Amino acid sequence: MSKPVAERPAVDWRALGERAAAGRGADRGEALAVLAAPDEAILQVLDAAFRPRLRFCGRAVSLHVIENAKSGDCTEDCAFCSQSAAAATGAPVRPLEDVETILAGARRAGELGAVRYCIVASGRGPDPATVDRICEAARRIRAESPIAICASLGLVSSDEARRLAEAGVNRYNHNLETSAAHYARVCGTHGYADRLRTLANARAAGLELCCGGLVGMGETDADRVDLALAIREAGADSVPVNFLDPRPGTPLAGRPRLSPVACLRILCMFRLVLPEREIRIAGGREACLGALQPLALFAANSMFTEGYLTTGGQGIARDRALIEDAGFTVGAILA
Ligand code: SF4
Repeated sequence: MSKPVAERPAVDWRALGERAAAGRGADRGEALAVLAAPDEAILQVLDAAFRPRLRFCGRAVSLHVIENAKSGDCTEDCAFCSQSAAAATGAPVRPLEDVETILAGARRAGELGAVRYCIVASGRGPDPATVDRICEAARRIRAESPIAICASLGLVSSDEARRLAEAGVNRYNHNLETSAAHYARVCGTHGYADRLRTLANARAAGLELCCGGLVGMGETDADRVDLALAIREAGADSVPVNFLDPRPGTPLAGRPRLSPVACLRILCMFRLVLPEREIRIAGGREACLGALQPLALFAANSMFTEGYLTTGGQGIARDRALIEDAGFTVGAILA
C-alpha cells in the first residue's frame, strides 16, 4: 500500500527534471523518491522525466524489431523465461534460422520503419556455428540495408564479441535483469559476474551496449534502483525495460502484473537516472501498461513493435497510431 502523501518528504519534481535535462542523472535517493511517488503525483513525475527525454531525444520514438532466430531448449534456469528447458511452457523449440530467413526478417523490419533489427538466440551462449551464421547474416544485412543490427546471443567471450563487431553487428544486448542482490532468486545457472563480464567483452570489442532488465519479479524498489545504477555503471547506451507478463509453466507464473501507474514510475526512474540514454519500453508493454501506453512515451524514447520473443504485440498499425496520437514521431534519436 502506498504511504499517505503527508508522510513523504516533498520532492521538487521540476528541479529534478531540469537537473536530468542538464545531464545530471538522479542519485539513489532521488530514484527511490520517484518510485515512492503517490499515484496522484504521476503527472508531475512524468513532467520531470519528459524534460531530459525532450532535451536528449526530442519527440522521436525509435522502433526496434526482434527476430527470435533460435527458440527454446535453453540449459539455463531464468525463472521468468518460457524458453528454459526447465520450464514446461510449450514455447516453440526451433534451431537457429538460416541466413536467408534472418535476412528476410531484416528486410521486413526495414519496411516497418524500424531503425534497429535485434537478432536473438536462446541459450547460455553461442556455439561456434551460431557465431559463424550470425556473422554471415550481419554481413549480408550490412551489404544491402542501413538498418542497425543488435545481437543477443547470451554470454559471449571477447573473441566472439570481436567477430560480431567485425561482421557489422553494432550493438550487443545482454540484460542484467535485476539487482545483484535479487539475482540469485531469478537465475541459478549463471551469475551476475558472468553477465557483467559479457558486457565488458562487448564494450571492449567496440560494440554499443544494450542492457536493461525485467521488473515485476518480486524485487523491491531498492532492487530496481540498484539495477538502474548498475546499468549506468556498465555504460549502457540503450536500456530495455521489460515488465513481467507471467508465462504459464515458469516459476514466476503466479506473480501479479505491475499496475500501469507503477510501470510509468519505473520508466520515469530509468529516464531520470540515465537521462541521455535510449530508454525502451520492452516486453510486457501492452499487457502491463494497457491504456496508459501513450504516457510512457513521455519517459521512454523507444519501443519494440510487432511482438517479442514468445509473445505477440498489438501490431505496427496500432503502435504507429499510439505514437502519432500522443504527439511523437517515428524515427531515430535526434541528439
Ligand atoms: S539464458 Fe536466455 S533463453 Fe536461456 S533461460 Fe535465460 S533468458 Fe531464457
